[in-house]
Amino acid sequence: MQVSAESAASPRVLEHIAGLDPYEPGLSIVEIREKYGLDQIIKLASNENPLGTSNLVIDAIRAGASGVFRYPRGGNPALVRAIAEWHKVPAENVVVGDGSDEIIDMLIRMTAKKGDNIVCFNPCFALYPSQARVADIEIKRARLKDDFSFDLEELLRLTDENTRLAFLTTPDNPTGYCPPEDDVRRFVRELGAKAPRALLVIDEAYMDFAPDEKASSLLASGELPANAAFLRTFSKSFGLAGLRIGYGIVPENIARAFWAARLPFSVNILAEEAVLAALRDEAFREKTLSVVREGREILSAGLARAGCEVFPSSANFIMFRPPVAKPREFFEELLKRGVIIRRLKSYGLPDYFRVSVGSPRENELFLKAVGEILNGSNTGEPA
Ligand SMILES: *Cc1c(COP(=O)(O)O)cnc(C)c1O
Repeated sequence: MQVSAESAASPRVLEHIAGLDPYEPGLSIVEIREKYGLDQIIKLASNENPLGTSNLVIDAIRAGASGVFRYPRGGNPALVRAIAEWHKVPAENVVVGDGSDEIIDMLIRMTAKKGDNIVCFNPCFALYPSQARVADIEIKRARLKDDFSFDLEELLRLTDENTRLAFLTTPDNPTGYCPPEDDVRRFVRELGAKAPRALLVIDEAYMDFAPDEKASSLLASGELPANAAFLRTFSKSFGLAGLRIGYGIVPENIARAFWAARLPFSVNILAEEAVLAALRDEAFREKTLSVVREGREILSAGLARAGCEVFPSSANFIMFRPPVAKPREFFEELLKRGVIIRRLKSYGLPDYFRVSVGSPRENELFLKAVGEILNGSNTGEPA
């Protein structure tokens, strides 16, 4: 079949959409296995759960499989109730989405139109600026400080009467930085005074990995400011990334609008069953948190010993800079050894990398590969 070349009569995509590039996810295991002909690959690129998925979840998905010919219930009431109980917040403030990605996209589309603006940091989680671009909304970005902590004064300075959303990621991706709770509290207040129509989105995708969640999260402290929305996800500490389910604790008027504007069945029936089971499996979650916290120490110490600059992390990943002139080669040497991590070039940090905390064995293999590369990089030969 021949597809005819674009002509003046071809259907057109809007100009601001036609120029977009697809989101660049971490490399996949299959991709690297095929390219380098390896049998064993470890993937520490996408901050997934090092323990996999809870057995209770797998049983729940099996049990739910025969029901997939049904549509989910509108508004996912069982799920909303369970999340509200988990956080001890009113169900009226809870929204769920096809990953928290969907909620980010919806918040942008629900609150901003052309002429408005959104503020966030640079670098930050790629989805805030990318979905703002899809919606054709101006994005104003404040640089992180040199140590990658938040310059909240600068972020506030960028806001004006047309600012509709401000994004904070706590702990931050890709840096791992987590601001003191008081800084966030002050920023919510100052934003409210300077830009009364702006909503502060506090993305807490990694908050449960923080050394002290209560001391770092307004949500965990039970504070729900009227101009703040909190985002969490089941993709990381609950091990459900592939099922796509995230949630928000948001002001009630935002929640009402969300339910009316979202695609009606974006959270599927198996994701719902999986979450209800995951919330019951306290042991799996505790194990995940302890494996991640211990692994984080081991990786940080090991990377520092190998001569890397390592940034403190409150999340399930670590940002670091290896002592190499050619970061691309460092990355490829890791791939040759079957280790996939995340290059931060697309975040504007070409010399930096992000590695997810893996299982004890994965962490060990990763550190061994790093040691080989950094000690024998002149020969380029695997040890
Ligand atoms: C992983 C991640 C999310 C969660 O995405 P899902 O769509 O729920 O998988 C949200 N925000 C940040 C900063 C993340 O890193």
